[in-house]
Amino acid sequence: MFEFTSASRYWEPKESGVICAACPRRCFLHKDQRGACYVRKERNNQIVLTSYGRSSGFCIDPIEKKPLNHFYPGSSVLSFGTAGCNLSCKFCQNWDISKATSQDKLNSAAYPENIARTAAKHNCQSVAFTYNDPVIFNEYAVDTAQACREFGIQSVAVSAGYVDGLARETLFNEIDAANIDLKAFSDEFYFKVCGGHLDPVLQTLKYIHHETDCWLEITTLLIPGLNDSKKEITDLCHWVLEHLADWVPIHFSAFHPDFKMRDIHPTPADTLLTAREIALQRGLKHIYLGPVNTNCFTLPSAIF
Ligand code: SF4
Repeated sequence: MFEFTSASRYWEPKESGVICAACPRRCFLHKDQRGACYVRKERNNQIVLTSYGRSSGFCIDPIEKKPLNHFYPGSSVLSFGTAGCNLSCKFCQNWDISKATSQDKLNSAAYPENIARTAAKHNCQSVAFTYNDPVIFNEYAVDTAQACREFGIQSVAVSAGYVDGLARETLFNEIDAANIDLKAFSDEFYFKVCGGHLDPVLQTLKYIHHETDCWLEITTLLIPGLNDSKKEITDLCHWVLEHLADWVPIHFSAFHPDFKMRDIHPTPADTLLTAREIALQRGLKHIYLGPVNTNCFTLPSAIF
């Protein structure tokens, strides 16, 4: 099948292959190999992004669904994603997209200017890169954010923040707002449950808050018995106070069994209320509980 591709901007040549520098996994790729995210692959001693210019679907959502509660409240956002992911969370709630290859899920062409034009036509204040992580379609997200600016449209990243170096700088200097998923406050959880590490995510949070103009909100999904202890929530809150600010909004959201984690019960309401209480007692000012359940308006791909 024909693939749309774009040359990656983040890679390093090596004698017997290439290293992808788009995220901290640093996949070493030989001829025609794909990285762990499925959508970056070696081609002719370079790396290409195979999902550039195609989407797995478009919806118009309220911005509070991203969730962003302090960024153009009450406005509509044109949401879209691609395929693949650079983490492997056992509880992934979008696993049909995040674990898909570019060929499985991606529909017809949706180039950056078309997306910006469509957002403007439907009175959307912003375009969100969501459903899967924009970190892995960085070049597509950056080009779309730039096209949106031409139309007076903002751009939003819903991301796990598992990115570093030039890729992190380039992405978050183009984006107007981000909700970063801080999946837990322990490296053990990141390693065992998500196949990653905590530190790059903390560095991303600090980078966005201190080095960019991008508006930042944080979401933590509380999973019973895995990341919802009072101590872990307290440590997370202390870290935000020490390294970010008391006014950074935090969303605690509820887990439901999905993908490879169907043997754990949904998060009880009391756990969310306790997390909120801990955060407020520590001095954080904007604490929200979720998820936000609202309908979205799905756009047919033919509009592109
Ligand atoms: S973006 Fe994909 S290919 Fe590149 S290092 Fe990360 S997982 Fe590997």
